[in-house]
Amino acid sequence: MIDTQGPIIPKSDDKPHEACGIIGAYLPDESVVRTAFFGLFALQHRGQESAGIATSDGDRIHLKAQMGLVSQVFREETLAALPGHVGIGHTRYSTMGGSKDYNAQPLLADGQRGSIAVGHNGNVINARELRIEMAEEFGSSFEKTSDTEVIAELFAKAPGADWFEVSAYAMRRLKGAYSLTILTKDKLVAVRDPLGIRPLCLGTLNGGWVVASETAALDNIGADFVRELENGETLIIDENGVESRIWSGARDTHAMCVFEQIYFARPDSLLNGELAYETRQRLGAEVYREHPVDADIVVGIPDSSTPHAVGVAAAAKIPYTEAIIRNRYVGRTFIQPDQRSRAQGVQAKFNPMRGVIEGKRLLVVDDSIVRSTTITRVVKMLRWAGAKEVHVRVASPPIKSTCHFGVDMATMGELIAANKTIEEIAEFIDADSLAYLSVQGLLRAVRAPENAYCTGCFTGDYPIPVQLEMNKMGFEVAPAD
Ligand code: SF4
Repeated sequence: MIDTQGPIIPKSDDKPHEACGIIGAYLPDESVVRTAFFGLFALQHRGQESAGIATSDGDRIHLKAQMGLVSQVFREETLAALPGHVGIGHTRYSTMGGSKDYNAQPLLADGQRGSIAVGHNGNVINARELRIEMAEEFGSSFEKTSDTEVIAELFAKAPGADWFEVSAYAMRRLKGAYSLTILTKDKLVAVRDPLGIRPLCLGTLNGGWVVASETAALDNIGADFVRELENGETLIIDENGVESRIWSGARDTHAMCVFEQIYFARPDSLLNGELAYETRQRLGAEVYREHPVDADIVVGIPDSSTPHAVGVAAAAKIPYTEAIIRNRYVGRTFIQPDQRSRAQGVQAKFNPMRGVIEGKRLLVVDDSIVRSTTITRVVKMLRWAGAKEVHVRVASPPIKSTCHFGVDMATMGELIAANKTIEEIAEFIDADSLAYLSVQGLLRAVRAPENAYCTGCFTGDYPIPVQLEMNKMGFEVAPAD
């Protein structure tokens, strides 16, 4: 790479960021902590800011949660200090509340049923109102700045004769996206919100039970997949096995985030019963059918766009070719200590292969474009490597609106498709042609009737009313900062 191109922004920096990964396990005859630990490894892609595990030995809850990757937070001695046969784990990317130690999950809360620990994936959009209401109703005080603290406090203080009643009470009051694992001293409770915005699945392992954000986590720990949780479903898992109840107010409409299909979930996870890898191939095939173009090779931006590019290549009958090599061992750039090494780090992330690219017409496939920083750099890099033409196809519709359900999408002002026409974007990124998948094509590819998924960031239509331009730092009143 020549340095006149400037740094290549890592792909993940121009992508929507997922909120979190959660796992929980009840293993009657064994220690749970290693299951939670290896499950979290498989969910690291959903959040890299902090990691935590809480376990219970039937007597009290033990917790370790701090900033860092799973491999940085847990060592042999920290795992040994987390005894018990029931536990939950969490990896976090902050969507509400700052990226601070005090917001690392699981979070603890106390109430009339004792202590609980909570892991949350999603974003509760009425957390601010609930904080005020709960301060009056329960005398709650809040020390952290995330919506998860509100959820934990609500489950700890809510009235109810059992955890089903508590969960139903909480579902009546919470608005937004929440897949939850809740640890009590002797139970694992799992909850999926009434719209089912974030995924959550159930599996079996060694005579016990596991819940996780994605089936890939079940695979990773050797658990057998049983099923995905229903909208508004609560599971109580304890020595009596699994009990399930669906809240009466749960919607028939399934509003799972369609971005799980496009980008968030691992390609080897099942979503709505289908492998995400295969769904992504169909997304690629659809965008090519809608917007065909002549080219010599199909190139995906590694790694997340590879399945989409494979789908484009099959539909186009043009060879799929690895033309950009991604160095998987380059660390995340923001943890590099200074600007110079940060620039070197990002530059080392992608390398185009001139011998493959020179003189060719390229059909470049990206799964999505948020700000356009990555695709702009990639087009420039491919031209530098001798591409004759660069045609870009995006295997999702233009992102025109921000997300309010647990995904960090940048602001409206930063979303390129909210501020430029497709022709203007093509010119801006210096592509010979640019086309996006239509919303109808997206729904065809995910094999869903209308309203089966949330498509809010593409259409501006959200499954529940939201306040546009929500501030993720809204609670950030700097306690102990
Ligand atoms: S607005 Fe977009 S990113 Fe957010 S939940 Fe809906 S589809 Fe997913």
